[in-house]
Amino acid sequence: MTQPLYDITPARQARTFAGKVSVRVIRAGWFRPDAGGFFGVVPKPLWSRLVETDDRGRLHCRLNLLLVEAGGKRIVVETGTGVRMTDKDRDIKGIEGGDPAVALRTVGVDPASIDFVVVSHLHYDHAGGMVDADGRPNFPRARYVVQRDEAEAAHGDELRLQGIMEVEQLDLVRAAGQLAEVQGEVELVEGVRVLPTGGHTRGSQAVLLGTAAAGQAGSRAIFWGDLIPTRWQIPVRWTSAYDDYPIQAVEMRNELVSRAAAEGWWCYFTHDPGALPIQIEATERGFRVKEDA
Ligand SMILES: [Zn+2]
Repeated sequence: MTQPLYDITPARQARTFAGKVSVRVIRAGWFRPDAGGFFGVVPKPLWSRLVETDDRGRLHCRLNLLLVEAGGKRIVVETGTGVRMTDKDRDIKGIEGGDPAVALRTVGVDPASIDFVVVSHLHYDHAGGMVDADGRPNFPRARYVVQRDEAEAAHGDELRLQGIMEVEQLDLVRAAGQLAEVQGEVELVEGVRVLPTGGHTRGSQAVLLGTAAAGQAGSRAIFWGDLIPTRWQIPVRWTSAYDDYPIQAVEMRNELVSRAAAEGWWCYFTHDPGALPIQIEATERGFRVKEDA
């Protein structure tokens, strides 16, 4: 069965978390990361039990955005790859679609109705869609929320980061007066907060959804960014070759996954091709996806 390139799940009804925070997943296309890079230090005999690769050794992953509605505001999390890459790059990375504005319109949402855009970090598959083909912000009214550490790293002189951060996109958004650089944990509207995690990149951030007040299991959710890109990386020591700060990534994953399991947080993953959200449980052999959640 072929799945549509652009889609929204669940189709009609959103999932709602404490504080009337409603969340839907917008499927904004596909991309095919190199499996060896994606699983980093994890031996193939382990990860290949979970997932198959194509004839070029790549995984078939989604570009998932979130559409969040809370406190009368609309928030999009992530922007996909956008459309400014070369055809050669799109072919190597196996990108299909990737245009966040087209994805939103396809599911009946006007990009001009978005108040905030949260960008987890500045890699191409998350920040590439900040602007359109002509360099104009894809979300004309929105403030784009990026951690200051991330913006500074993108403009820094570390050799490893040269050419892999979307500096041009960032600067176009800044020039349009729409960049909101934040530092640390910030609540955008009640029940929607960005949470710096580092690990994957210096200024990576996750998004915590739902107010804490209720305190009931399952009343909150988390969007992991690339700290945990799919359910396959729930074993917290499974560090990707794209994690710039692997020790920090493992520690932070362990801390947050422990909380997610203990408090029943629902989990949304940016590159997971399966049905979302899921919950995590702690077992004697480590963390795993909770079945029939
Ligand atoms: Zn990614």
